[in-house]
Amino acid sequence: MAWYEVNYSCGHSDRIQLYGKHTEREKRIKYLEGTLCPDCYWKKIQEETKQTTKEFEMPELTGTPKQVQWANTIRADTIKAIVERKDEYVNKSDITEFDEILGCLISNFRDAGWWIDSRNVSNNSILAQAQESLRQAPKREAMKTVEAEALEEATVYPEKQIISTPATIEIRENTIYVFFEKELTLINLMKLNEYKWNGSKWAREIVKTNGAVVDRAAEIGNKLLLAGAPIRIINNEARQKAIDGTYEKEHLRWISRQINSGRLVIRHELSDYLYNQSKQITGAKYDKDFHAVIVDPMYYEEINIFAKTHGFRFTDAAQEQMDKERQARENAKTIRPVAPKGEEIGKEGEILDDLLDEK
Ligand SMILES: [Zn+2]
Repeated sequence: MAWYEVNYSCGHSDRIQLYGKHTEREKRIKYLEGTLCPDCYWKKIQEETKQTTKEFEMPELTGTPKQVQWANTIRADTIKAIVERKDEYVNKSDITEFDEILGCLISNFRDAGWWIDSRNVSNNSILAQAQESLRQAPKREAMKTVEAEALEEATVYPEKQIISTPATIEIRENTIYVFFEKELTLINLMKLNEYKWNGSKWAREIVKTNGAVVDRAAEIGNKLLLAGAPIRIINNEARQKAIDGTYEKEHLRWISRQINSGRLVIRHELSDYLYNQSKQITGAKYDKDFHAVIVDPMYYEEINIFAKTHGFRFTDAAQEQMDKERQARENAKTIRPVAPKGEEIGKEGEILDDLLDEK
């Protein structure tokens, strides 16, 4: 092994390491001195790619800048190789309409990733894929028109439009997805309405206490319209309700059950008044982790009055817990304690009074 100075044909030189027999090294140096240095070679490839891309009017590829740069050279090499052997492909009979297929390959295959994945695929196979794409083209075109029409039909523009591009609202099972071009006022609106950014869209999962998913989609659509954003909702019912504000409002006042403790959690819209009222319930405590007031279901009578007065609803689990407490209390009122045989006890009435006072 030794270091050698190599003078490339482009005039640049470099020190490189060579291994093997002396005569082999000499041969290798001679060969390298007839080539361009790696930098100049890469520039030459880039230049050729540029020319081929221009010559065949190839559209820009989509992907990351590095992917696109790489895919551009693969595409240029592939197209050039295919064109050079046109006669061969045409004579092989399978490929009729060569020019149309080539045109399709150039204009429809714009994903850099596809070209990179195809770098070791035979040109025959690439042409076959382009031929299939060409066969599907009329259908694709027709679909495009229908799709554009359907999307336009699903888009509504507010009178006082402030935002230029529509916000898209999608319902998928129990989740609502919203997407729009970055816009601070809309981002705040999403956060206020409990939507979370999932990396590509704003999303909110709708659970039973939030009401119907169509109503929630209509609600966010309505708020976006009022904020001056055009909206696009494929779901007709949600779109109509968003336009005329006829969705059922989200019920925000709920009493639910804490899973582990069986205690009840009081949730409501931001309101000092409701907070103070809920704190009046015996034993009520504010829980920092839950950001809510927690109460003990043993005070079900007070909780019931609070709920009725302020329009709170109970979740099924919370209602069940309340019923259980009441049942337990009612049973407690009717027990008949029996004294062990041979022992004296006080009058029945006294014991019952004691039990009641323990409240
Ligand atoms: Zn050079």
